[in-house]
Amino acid sequence: MGKNNSGFLTLLDEAVGFHGHLCAGQIIGVRIAMLGLRELGITDPKGKDRKRLIVFVEIDRCATDAIMTVTGCRIGRRNMKVLDYGKMAATFVDVETGRAVRIVSLQTARKKAAAMYPGLSDSAAQMKAYRELDDGDLFQVQDVAVSIPPEDMPGRPLGKEQCVVCGETVLDCREMRKDDRVLCRPCATNNRYYNEMALPRPPLRAKELL
Ligand SMILES: [Zn+2]
Ligand SMILES: [Zn+2]
Repeated sequence: MGKNNSGFLTLLDEAVGFHGHLCAGQIIGVRIAMLGLRELGITDPKGKDRKRLIVFVEIDRCATDAIMTVTGCRIGRRNMKVLDYGKMAATFVDVETGRAVRIVSLQTARKKAAAMYPGLSDSAAQMKAYRELDDGDLFQVQDVAVSIPPEDMPGRPLGKEQCVVCGETVLDCREMRKDDRVLCRPCATNNRYYNEMALPRPPLRAKELL
């Protein structure tokens, strides 16, 4: 399953188109997603089953794009959750049945690929072998349970609050409360991913927007 059949090749083509290049990550990503869907019995993730699936990925690298193309799940639709664990793993949750499987890409597959194609570079060997190896050689599958709080589910935003420090709006219950005051997370923790280099600019006039 999941090898050089037309279903796999069509999905791989789509993944490469979206991602921008063919790489071992696209092959792994397509196969991990096909396996996740098969485990959950989801046959039409972009059609009739599109509201059944939520995917958690544990890395922001190549394979994540392939998982997005195969499943149709998107960050902006809130059915693709990216966790920055740096692990090549993904969990597929069927919100209708409550079933979930976590699939981990096995490091041992790299050695198997090198042994299958000793004359090739690591990445060339992986690109060939990852199409041919069985799912059991590539992945570990585990039944898991995932509880997704209502404010993380797809649908209309739950909650809308204004931070008393920066004045910016916070959706989906991401605000924090200190002494009954509502703060956004960066203001509450004083921990931001950016440094302010200047005051905010004055509002742009309509002419400048064109
Ligand atoms: Zn890539
Ligand atoms: Zn704030």
